[in-house]
Amino acid sequence: MSVPLLDLKAQHATIRDDVVAALMSVVDQQTFILGDAVGQLECSVAGLSHTKYAIGCANGTDALLLALRALNVGRDDEVVTTPFTFFATAGAIHNVGAKPVFVDIDPRTFNIAPDAVATAIGARTKAVIAVDLFGQMAAIERITSAANGVPVIEDAAQTIGASRVINGVRVMAGEAATIGTFSFFPSKNLGGYGDGGMMVTQDEALFETLMKLRVHGGRKTYYHEIVGYNSRLDTLQAAVLQAKIPYLDAWSGARRKNAAYYDAAFADLPEITTPYIDPANTSIYNQYTIRLAGRDALQAHLKRVGVGNSVYYPLPLHLQPCFAYLGYSEGQFPESERAAKEVLSLPVYPELTTAQLDEVIAAVRTYYGR
Ligand SMILES: *Cc1c(COP(=O)(O)O)cnc(C)c1O
Repeated sequence: MSVPLLDLKAQHATIRDDVVAALMSVVDQQTFILGDAVGQLECSVAGLSHTKYAIGCANGTDALLLALRALNVGRDDEVVTTPFTFFATAGAIHNVGAKPVFVDIDPRTFNIAPDAVATAIGARTKAVIAVDLFGQMAAIERITSAANGVPVIEDAAQTIGASRVINGVRVMAGEAATIGTFSFFPSKNLGGYGDGGMMVTQDEALFETLMKLRVHGGRKTYYHEIVGYNSRLDTLQAAVLQAKIPYLDAWSGARRKNAAYYDAAFADLPEITTPYIDPANTSIYNQYTIRLAGRDALQAHLKRVGVGNSVYYPLPLHLQPCFAYLGYSEGQFPESERAAKEVLSLPVYPELTTAQLDEVIAAVRTYYGR
């Protein structure tokens, strides 16, 4: 037997009829570019995120890029963000001509430390990108207040449908930021059958700008007020995602149940730290990420016995070769560097059976001789 890290075929099997019907409807209508399903999905995601506006785009990386452009971030500007994230977060900053300014993470949640944000804000800071890592929201209200009026982009690629209670009110991922961004990459909790992304905002002027930016900078065809991109959400992807959206809540619940099952099973292993979820947060567990000393040896063992796993992320962004020009060095962000050496993500996808969960648990326990 073996347990994969993620089993997209298992999920597809449960929704095949819905998805195929949705796809064939687009094929029969031949409305591949900005067809009805795009607007329908934008309504669904705006509703889910408690935002006034949602704008589909080509992928989660472009969602960050368009968000930065909409906030007029460009050359000579600085954007404060975390070095412990998927590359796209900082890549988008570089690609609008701005400078990524990294600050360290909170070691418990892996999300950017609000106090560190406060110290990094300067005259050139044009935006902050907070990342919601592994399925739980960053402390968005503390980051917003640390940003002191600077716009905050929430990279919510891993948290669609996650929430956080702020002053007694349940706030959804993307809701409280200046612009929230989502990815529909197949391995995200709401994954398409290819690339896709979306931006959400409460601000009408930003909505108008984002709508322009995704179609070459104009809302009227062949008239261009700004220079934009070709970054539309494909209708076929929107149709798949709209068909999947009714299941999202139950899938997130199943992931939480799987996470709780692991938490209980690993509770007596002092060698490993199970995920810490901020009590204000409801996580959607895009990943179930443990941390431990000597991670590589456990990883090798799991590989040997056929248990899927992965390291997100092995090299913090301030140490990536492409960012050498920024002048950071090892030791500058000790929590991010330690996390990169200690994290290991285990299978947590909703279709896991109890037998599969037990197999993962047995593999870990055997390694420790328990
Ligand atoms: C997946 C991801 C992205 C990029 O999304 P794509 O759709 O693959 O371009 C950006 N940021 C984070 C944190 C992600 O996990």
